[in-house]
Amino acid sequence: MLLLRKTLCVQWHEPPPECMQRTPGSQSGRILPLIPAINSPDLGRLRARLLDDFLRAAWLECCGHLSQFDIRGQNYTENPELDREWGWDNRSNRVALERVVEIGEEFDYEYDFGTTTPLKLKVLDERQGKAKSKKDIRILARNFKPDFRCRKCSQPATLAYVFDYPALLFCKKHAFIHEPEGEGLLPLVNSPRWGDCGYTGPYDEEYLFDEIYTPKQ
Ligand SMILES: [Zn+2]
Ligand SMILES: [Zn+2]
Repeated sequence: MLLLRKTLCVQWHEPPPECMQRTPGSQSGRILPLIPAINSPDLGRLRARLLDDFLRAAWLECCGHLSQFDIRGQNYTENPELDREWGWDNRSNRVALERVVEIGEEFDYEYDFGTTTPLKLKVLDERQGKAKSKKDIRILARNFKPDFRCRKCSQPATLAYVFDYPALLFCKKHAFIHEPEGEGLLPLVNSPRWGDCGYTGPYDEEYLFDEIYTPKQ
């Protein structure tokens, strides 16, 4: 199965679409799709919960917030029994995706109901065959890191000052001139969650991908 965020998926050999190169710090930077394509050998075994684990590991996890899938208007969560006590008619995210989505279908996902990071997911295709990896999900392709630039010197930005909204982007030098104590500075990582809550990047180094696309001259 392939999943990717809306219409934007960049193979490593393709130039990024125009929308990936907007002004650093604009809101577009926050909603860029950065993952992309996921492969599972067996859609029937792929439970929404596993996808949740994967999205958290690769892109989202900062401090164990709640999350949910919204598929055809039905929410799927970790603990629907508890949700019911609050009056929400949710179902378990242990559901096999095969039972609830079809090829071509889009669905929604949210991580953290305070500083929410919403994702759009889409089932692109499925294929028959055995995966070489024992992992149920592996990344087939992913987007380059947006080419964020320091607002002072236009060098590559590595830090976001998040006490302003939208966040101000800086290189390390200008970040610490702006905020000598370092408060409110978060690393600019290749994730739609950069700058939110205390997100500093994937806890599993396997998922680090900070390469920036540079056109060949
Ligand atoms: Zn958090
Ligand atoms: Zn700078």
